[in-house]
Formats: sequence, structure tokens, C-alpha cells
Amino acid sequence: PRLANQIAAGEVVERPANIVKELVENALDAQSSRIEIDAEQGGVKLLRIRDDGHGINKDDLALALSRHATSKITTLDDLEAVGSLGFRGEALASISSVSRLALTSRTPEAQQAWQVTAEGRDMEAQLAPAAHPAGTTVEVRDLFFNTPARRKFLRTEKTEFSHLEESFKRLALSRYDIGFSLRHNGRVIHQLRPAQRTVDREKRVASLLNPQFMDSAVHIETEAAGLRLQGWVGLPTFSRSQADMQYFFVNGRVVRDKLVAHAIKQAYRDVLYHGRHPAFVLYLWLDAKLVDVNVHPTKHEVRFRDGRLVHDFLFRALHRALAEVRP
Ligand code: ADP
Ligand code: MG
Repeated sequence: PRLANQIAAGEVVERPANIVKELVENALDAQSSRIEIDAEQGGVKLLRIRDDGHGINKDDLALALSRHATSKITTLDDLEAVGSLGFRGEALASISSVSRLALTSRTPEAQQAWQVTAEGRDMEAQLAPAAHPAGTTVEVRDLFFNTPARRKFLRTEKTEFSHLEESFKRLALSRYDIGFSLRHNGRVIHQLRPAQRTVDREKRVASLLNPQFMDSAVHIETEAAGLRLQGWVGLPTFSRSQADMQYFFVNGRVVRDKLVAHAIKQAYRDVLYHGRHPAFVLYLWLDAKLVDVNVHPTKHEVRFRDGRLVHDFLFRALHRALAEVRP
């Protein structure tokens, strides 16, 4: 089974940034309220993700590293309306097959924390008592230490860290109710407190992306036909210099979608005669049955049941909001 894990790992684990996404999603699925990330050398030497979520029982710990061990889906109906972020039961198995992994956890009721460790595919997982507050810590060391061919594809520390940080930004922008921190080589890069009020959310966006974005951003909040859109769009004065500050979330997950991009660009061009690089952070909420997010584990794709409806809704919402502030 470990060999299968290594093959499967190629799908999910290409670089430290993917690991951060998977492990933070696990922490979110565990109802955590604080998530701390430590990285060393771009995340290749070490990634440590610590949460204060519901933890893992001793009995489930060893199992958590085996393939298709998911606690999140039990029926086909669940798969239809996936509420949790992870549901394939592959991430931990894949990651542990290409690194030195330690998973430490304690449930709130347990007297004692437990730790399971694994090194690549050759070793059986080892279970031992440990010290840990309620919650979970996953430590991933020496990524691809046993797969030189894959290690070769890693870039410089700086590049790997910038991918990792991009993952972090998307996650932190997807859950304002969660406190996040990110450290690299011991240095605090981001420290984010939970943000409920709009002003606090705007502070989070500014500190994660660019303080100037908020100076020129138009706030959008609108609802129609069961669709809800909230977020911020930058005006051309700012957007011109930002080719890639485009964040779009569908039911809390970041997506890249042509139809979405088109609707936004079109509205932007219509109102402001400028369609090049609108900067935006936008959140679309709709009935989970109207959208398929189960397309690919790593590509940020969606399939809307009614693309036309979504396109027109976005276009109108953006058009209205931009027209109000047209210079
Ligand atoms: P999936 O998330 O698809 O279920 P994973 O391999 O990512 O698969 O995780 C396997 C299982 O380990 C999860 O279903 C969950 O029960 C448990 N688990 C992993 N990480 C955490 C965490 N941070 N807190 C609590 N449980 C976790
Ligand atoms: Mg998962």
C-alpha cells in the first residue's frame, strides 16, 4: 500500500505549498479556532501545523496515516454535498510516504496525547505517548528525502516560500473567524486575529495582500435568486499595478474560473473602460447543489450547474457597485 501512496502523492504533494493547504484544511475540518504554521527553508526542511481542533483518538491515530482513512464521508449522499474540505482520505498517507512525519494529537476528553511517526514508505508507523494540549500538530520534515527525482523539481527556498505564502493567503482569506499565524525560519511573517467586523476583515485583507488595495477598494454586498456576493474590488488606479491580485471564493473555497473572470472583467470594462487587471477579493455563496467542487483535488476548478445565472449575477453586481463610484 505504501507504493500506491507514493504514486498518489504525486497528485497532491508537489511542493510544500500543497502540504500547507491539505494540513490547514484538515485543521479547519477539525473545528479549530487557531492555526499556527511554522516553516523552515521554504517548508522543505520543516513544516509544522498546529491547531486547537477536536483532535484524533489514540485508536484513530495510526489509521489516519493509511490510505482512504477518512472520517468525513460515510455515504454517497455525503459526496454529493461535501461540507468538509478534505474527503478523500489521501493527504496524510501521501505526505507521510514522502517525508518524515509526526502526527501528535489529543482530544479534549483524553488524559494523554499520542504521537504517531512514519518515515517514508519503508517504515511501519510508530505510536507513543506524547505531551500536547487538546488539538493536533503535524510535523513534516525533509520533504522528498526518499524520492530524489521529485526533490529535483523543488525550486529555491525563496520560490517555495512564496508558493507557500500564497497558499496561506488563500486559506486566511477563506476563514476570517480563524486566527492564523505564519513563521518562516523563526520570523513572524503573518499574525492574524479572528476578524468578525467588516473593518477587521478589511484589515486582514490589507495586511495579507497590500495596504493600498483597501484605499481604493469598493465594498460589495448583494444578494439575488439565492446567490450572495460579498467582497472588494479595486479601482484601476490600484489594479493597474497588480496583475495577479485576484481572489474568488465559491462557498469558501478559492477557485479559478473562466466564466467568473469573464463576468468581472466585462463589468469592469463596461463601467470603467479598463479591463486589464482588476484586483478583487470576492466571495460567492450559493446552494452547494448548484456547484460541483469535486472536480480535481488540487486544481481550483468548479462547475456551476447554471453558468449563465452565475455569470449574469456577477456581472450585474459588479456593474452596479462600480457605477456608483465611477469617477
Ligand atoms: P481527509 O481529510 O480526506 O479525511 P486526510 O488524509 O487529510 O484525509 O486525513 C485523514 C483523517 O485524519 C481525517 O479524516 C481526520 O479524521 C484525521 N485528521 C487529520 N488531520 C486532523 C486534524 N488536524 N485534526 C483532527 N483530525 C485530523
Ligand atoms: Mg484532508
